[in-house]
Amino acid sequence: MSTSSSIRVRFAPSPTGMFHVGGARSALFNWAMAAQSGGTLVLRIEDTDASRNSPEWTEGIIRALAWLGMDGGQYEGPYFQSANADKHAAAAATLREQGRAYYCDCAREDVTARTGDQHRGYDGHCRDRGLGPGPGRALRFRTPDEGQTVVVDLLRGKPTFENAALEDFVIARADGSVTFLLANAVDDMSQGITHVVRGEEHLSNAPKQQLLWEALGGAAPVWAHVPVIVNEKRQKLSKRRDKVALEDYRAEGYLAEAMRNYLMLLGWAPSDDREILPWDVMVAEFRIEDVNTSPAFFDVKKLRAINGDYIRMLPVEKFVAECLPFLEAAPFEVDMAVFNELAPLAQTRVALLSEIVPMVDFAFLPEPDFDEQSWTKAMKEPAADILAAAEDAYRDAPWNAEELKNRLEAVGAERGLKLGKTQAPVRVAVTGRTVGLPLFESLEILGRERTLERMAAARAKLTS
Ligand code: GLU
Repeated sequence: MSTSSSIRVRFAPSPTGMFHVGGARSALFNWAMAAQSGGTLVLRIEDTDASRNSPEWTEGIIRALAWLGMDGGQYEGPYFQSANADKHAAAAATLREQGRAYYCDCAREDVTARTGDQHRGYDGHCRDRGLGPGPGRALRFRTPDEGQTVVVDLLRGKPTFENAALEDFVIARADGSVTFLLANAVDDMSQGITHVVRGEEHLSNAPKQQLLWEALGGAAPVWAHVPVIVNEKRQKLSKRRDKVALEDYRAEGYLAEAMRNYLMLLGWAPSDDREILPWDVMVAEFRIEDVNTSPAFFDVKKLRAINGDYIRMLPVEKFVAECLPFLEAAPFEVDMAVFNELAPLAQTRVALLSEIVPMVDFAFLPEPDFDEQSWTKAMKEPAADILAAAEDAYRDAPWNAEELKNRLEAVGAERGLKLGKTQAPVRVAVTGRTVGLPLFESLEILGRERTLERMAAARAKLTS
């Protein structure tokens, strides 16, 4: 792509549902292109389908973009497509006056009856009937009978479409409302868009829209149709089947920086195999031409791993701040002084921020939230004996992790047990689970009184 500063790209979501990862990836690709060339990104909310869109979804899009780092400073707008209704109507009228569009009163059944195939496009029946406007009449664009429409796509070369195979598509419905094809093309033209970067599902619209641009006197944009995103079964991501809403990932504890990094890798990769790239490096290195055309696999495991890496890179105070919303929603009161001590231990062990809650709950609940499987696994013979001996060993121990470890090791040695075995009942008695933060540091933070109390309570439960 040329780095001329005149490029204008746009992100044009329809607010018809939760903002999903595919939309977010398109937004990021566009943002990176604008940022690397000193160009402009336009945000246009395509809100013309009144029956399907709602302000709530629009707010969701704007909120999600802001979370990813895109706010008023990164884009021009938001513009609302519904505000451009006059321009759309004027374009439809111009095409009609020029004879590039004509009225049609065919019902779908009539077309099928004539062509004998319900999947076939419109057969041009009304092309030369000279119908004027009227109830039940849609306006169709007259596609050329001959020649080809060559779309310049930065990822796909020059997809070429036979004009004869492009049906005379509807630009304004019988009720006067304009279709996506026209509104989208008119807005792109009037907003001076130079590069249209969007999902592959729109590739078949490109020749039709290019014909509209040309008919309306514009020079077609450069296109880039980015690949579909698929799940592990190679099925196109769908909101009914897969987790696609950005908000859901955020709620689970993915960091915005990690999400942004991962989304950029859906179809694109830097020249070497680096996976963690700060945003400014992404902007400098991203090349739309290098985006793949094969389906991009949304690999949740990889996303998780990248998120864990990003969590570990945070300064601990930032990690604590990121954990706050999760702690606030937890079913216990958090003593921040205690949490600040636990945070560095937890930071290296969570892949998702939400995992913080079960990892630290033992420190804030009046008694551990026992996990049944952990209990069964750890609380078998000689658990009661180990707990009794540990209580004795800990009663007058200097209260620090190292000493607590040494003393428990000694308890195990007397019984011919390794530390891991000796540790298990203590860990479950105190934290409720077999896995978690480093045990002795946890005990140090929890304090002698509560540690002894919990070991005794577990022992009582075992021997009752
Ligand atoms: N509103 C359309 C969509 O969300 C925009 C397509 C485009 O980017 O041209 O699918």
